[in-house]
Amino acid sequence: MKVYLYLNEPRAMPNSFFTGDRAKLAGVPYGDQTAMCTSTPEVKHWLSDSLLYVFKNVHGLGGIFTITASENRTNCTSHYQKEKCPRCKDRSVAEIIAEVNSVMADAVHRADPKADVLAWDWGWRDDFAPEIIAKLPDSVWLMSVSEWSLPIERGGIKSNVGEYSISSVGPGPRAAKHWALARERGLKTVAKVQFNVTWEFAAVPYLPVADLVAEHAVKLSGSGVNGLMLGWSLGGFPSPNLEIARLAESQKTDADDILNKIAKEYYGDGAAAAREAWTTFSTGYREFPYNGGLCYNGPQHWGAANLVFPKPTNYRATMVGIPYDDVKSWCAIYPAEIAAGQFRKVAESFGKGLTPLRRAVDLSPTERRVQTESEFRFAKAAQLHFASSANMIDFNALRNRRIDTTDTAEKEKLFAEMQKVLADELRISKEMYRLAKSDSRIGYESSNHYFYIPMDIAEKIISIKHFKYTINGDK
Ligand SMILES: [Zn+2]
Repeated sequence: MKVYLYLNEPRAMPNSFFTGDRAKLAGVPYGDQTAMCTSTPEVKHWLSDSLLYVFKNVHGLGGIFTITASENRTNCTSHYQKEKCPRCKDRSVAEIIAEVNSVMADAVHRADPKADVLAWDWGWRDDFAPEIIAKLPDSVWLMSVSEWSLPIERGGIKSNVGEYSISSVGPGPRAAKHWALARERGLKTVAKVQFNVTWEFAAVPYLPVADLVAEHAVKLSGSGVNGLMLGWSLGGFPSPNLEIARLAESQKTDADDILNKIAKEYYGDGAAAAREAWTTFSTGYREFPYNGGLCYNGPQHWGAANLVFPKPTNYRATMVGIPYDDVKSWCAIYPAEIAAGQFRKVAESFGKGLTPLRRAVDLSPTERRVQTESEFRFAKAAQLHFASSANMIDFNALRNRRIDTTDTAEKEKLFAEMQKVLADELRISKEMYRLAKSDSRIGYESSNHYFYIPMDIAEKIISIKHFKYTINGDK
């Protein structure tokens, strides 16, 4: 196992940094910060010397991977505003970005010729990417998010995948194009994927949608990529999904063979039933209402822990935060009824797949029972999260309609519908409480830590029970 450093350098510095001798290093101004201009020899030396120092003093590092146009403000063209820098304005975007990568690659390889340098194309605009790839140093690997730009249609809504999708099987057109350009000039290529969990849903260690993972892994294996990054800001846990990726890479066989092998290994006599469950989960999960906004703001990671608010909180859902009752942000590009409907479809398929999975667990070898029972809990938790997400979207949409109407009869009707949703949500919350108590990995993801603990679900149950006393007659 090796450690790779993620480098998003040189970070912009506070304006106060650029005094005295440093004034000449100032590049593009970014409000209270300013870019350290990589068109100056001093900044290039700083980048180079610091990496040389790290790689000479920390032995055994695997290498680095870079992002050179991220959300963070770094080089003068990281946000495509190079015209504001007196030096960079006359250079091309490709020249600046490729140079930052070259400086870092040279330094790493001077210290350790065997270390890998992965240049990630994240944030490279499609119109600039081919020229950047053409100018990269020969020693780097080009990494691209496999599923980026895949066209999808969910619930009749057409869109394109950005990143972080397990429900969409890559590779997509952007990665395919960039890898081809890199390969033409002899660079190695890497696919960035998510195979355990992702921003679509991250509250279990891995999602048993094995067919989707196998299909994607086999396609990548056939595409000629030289490496995989199996997770980024969300990671997960050692899982059968990762073993699927390993088999696809090492044995160059088809998805069915891989799935049969893994199913046999984990489930023994229950292999056929496990495969039926995985296929049912995977088929349903293709309906996930994917959208970047929904992934970050939606209620799916919190599931039953998300409270019932009788009146609008007016709080915004936040990334890696609490979804509150911000149903508009949750649903992003989807009308609420479509988002709820898609979550319901996914929940139903998980519910259906739990029957063969139970059978498979009961037939699994004793020495594998701890793992197979875990998988059942993760699938059950996923089903409850998706069902709860549908409920909470419905509930908040109904609540908002009830607030907006002055028609008493309509208010009564909406109230009855809300009560019906909450009766189901109460059942889900009680099941989820027991499940979360039984396995401390549920509700946890290593970069987000606990989305919730069992006591949060207890609070949800109280919020449901409290609801009718608060809302009835608008008290
Ligand atoms: Zn500059």
